[in-house]
Amino acid sequence: MKVVLFGPPGAGKGTQACEISAYYGLTHISTGDLIRKNIREKTPIGLVALDYIERGKLAPDEVVMQLLGREIAGLDGYLLDGFPRTLAQAKMLDEITDIDVVINLQLDDELVVSRIVNRMVCPVCGRSYNKLLHSTTVCDCGATLTMRTDDTPEIVEERLKVYREQTLPILDHYGAVGKVKDIDGNGSVGEVFEKIKKALYDYDKKR
Ligand SMILES: [Zn+2]
Repeated sequence: MKVVLFGPPGAGKGTQACEISAYYGLTHISTGDLIRKNIREKTPIGLVALDYIERGKLAPDEVVMQLLGREIAGLDGYLLDGFPRTLAQAKMLDEITDIDVVINLQLDDELVVSRIVNRMVCPVCGRSYNKLLHSTTVCDCGATLTMRTDDTPEIVEERLKVYREQTLPILDHYGAVGKVKDIDGNGSVGEVFEKIKKALYDYDKKR
């Protein structure tokens, strides 16, 4: 099963990505992590990406696609987290693979803002918590949780606007071929994951 996961900031996309990958045995691929890994390992393409980043630029689509193409070659199940980011990337992706389903996590703007301004993040393992639901400032892994200085309502609203502008054309692209499943992101991690499982039922060849 080849899955793309979309969700606005604060909708729990990272957490659901982990849940889905673990449950269905999918390789969880984040292109950001992939680029960092290749830079760390000094692979030829990683060095090309580094050259752009050192000049303050984003790695171009061609570079990201090369990295991704190598990563997904031979995999029959994976989840793309935070990719594609643009319609151009989605079209390039279509040339190297055939995505089965796009999960579109949805959450009301007010909820997104509330979740994000109350968000505490673990600097060690990356897990995030809601201050309203988590009474201590310590992560399950033992590290002290921090708040991000850019988690303000104004910045979050701007991020949402950018997210929507970028994501809508991609959702239209996959929606036109019936591949988009909208998921209501309201509820606990477990509740949202149950909705995702229902949506993925037809695609799950492991059953
Ligand atoms: Zn942690």
